[in-house]
Amino acid sequence: MSNHSELMKFVKEYPDFPKPGITFRDVFPMFSDPQALQSLVDACVDIVSRGSRPDVILGVESRGFLLAPLIAYKLGIGFAPVRKVGKLPGRTACESYDLEYGQDSIEVQVDSFKPGQNVVVLDDLIATGGTLSATCKLAKKLGANVISCLTIVELKDLGGRAKIDAPVFSLITY
Ligand code: 5GP
Repeated sequence: MSNHSELMKFVKEYPDFPKPGITFRDVFPMFSDPQALQSLVDACVDIVSRGSRPDVILGVESRGFLLAPLIAYKLGIGFAPVRKVGKLPGRTACESYDLEYGQDSIEVQVDSFKPGQNVVVLDDLIATGGTLSATCKLAKKLGANVISCLTIVELKDLGGRAKIDAPVFSLITY
């Protein structure tokens, strides 16, 4: 498998999930196929390796948790989780963001990285960009230098990347 369009066939679409009118794009088939998983990790490592060296990769709940440590392991850097509020123990920092109806918040442990460290933020998918943009703001609030954001899937028409004050890389766009 040599290009990212090859990975597209491992994204499975579920109409009307989690609610009517939404098409959910599931990236788990990419994780269950051994070759696709290797291609996925290699493609991410390749992108991250092209920029400044990160100290930490932040993985966003929940699929970002699964991919980010694989990339961190390959690069020999750390991983830290970004979670929904109330899941992480100890001192945390929080950032809220708007949803279509209402608000949501994400949290990170304040000792996940040190001020001035380089971080890459990873999630499985960017739609409106609310989640990634809030994660970047949170990381910057704690003094991180956000080098880039990385996603497997980008829903381009929703224009999420415009909300993010860092380069955004995605492997597959719809
Ligand atoms: P955003 O904040 O950019 O609107 O939405 C992105 C967040 O919602 C990500 O954390 C992502 O995991 C989740 N998400 C929204 N739609 C989908 C989807 O179709 N597939 C997957 N895998 N995640 C989604």
